[in-house]
Amino acid sequence: MLLDELRDYNASLLQTGLFKDCCPNGLQVEGRAEVRRIATGVTASQQVLDAAIAWGADAILVHHGYFWRNEDAAITGIKKRRIAQLLRNDVSLLAYHLPLDAHPELGNNARLGKILGLEEQGRFGEQNIACLGELVPPQALAQFAAWIGGRFQRVPQVIGEDAKNIRKVAWCSGGGQGYFGAAIEQGVDAFISGEISEQSFHLARESGVAFIAAGHHATERFGIRALGEHLADQFGLEHRFFDQDNPV
Ligand SMILES: [Zn+2]
Repeated sequence: MLLDELRDYNASLLQTGLFKDCCPNGLQVEGRAEVRRIATGVTASQQVLDAAIAWGADAILVHHGYFWRNEDAAITGIKKRRIAQLLRNDVSLLAYHLPLDAHPELGNNARLGKILGLEEQGRFGEQNIACLGELVPPQALAQFAAWIGGRFQRVPQVIGEDAKNIRKVAWCSGGGQGYFGAAIEQGVDAFISGEISEQSFHLARESGVAFIAAGHHATERFGIRALGEHLADQFGLEHRFFDQDNPV
């Protein structure tokens, strides 16, 4: 398919125009006009670029791309090496941040709920990115945390009483710890995100709502992969997901 078609299809599928975000969503670096092989990855790191380009990708789709709001705009150092490699190889980079977190089917949060066996019942928070749902049947916090650790092959960081009964759950993938306060207001028993902050500990202690930090990378592997699989199905493209072992 044509790169322009891929860009436009994704923009309408993910409704990128509706989101206020801290990076550009869509085509960030333009490569060759025709696309047969698409690579997906969580972050457009050097490792993901190297592997995707060696595989022969025409376009690389990621959740974390480039050009973040508060970073220096100059293209030097690490950023120069990454962008130069894309341009030299005529490979495109497309990035989808909040629109991919939020998508009701392919999104990180929709997928995170499915993987953890949570029944999604609603959305909350800015731009309706965070999810509310139920753990059926309810479990003790220690048991639920062990289940999450098994699903992600990574032991989560947990703040809360082991024996606390967990039924109502809120979650927001990646760096979603800022939604913890809003989650507490929803009356949940536990909140799951990728990362945790210093103040999350105090909020958890003083509210009695458990905080489970299951990994930024670990909780954001699903959306971009689901998008790649969807595009491969829809347009007969070859797709491969390139994971990277990231402990954060
Ligand atoms: Zn993220």
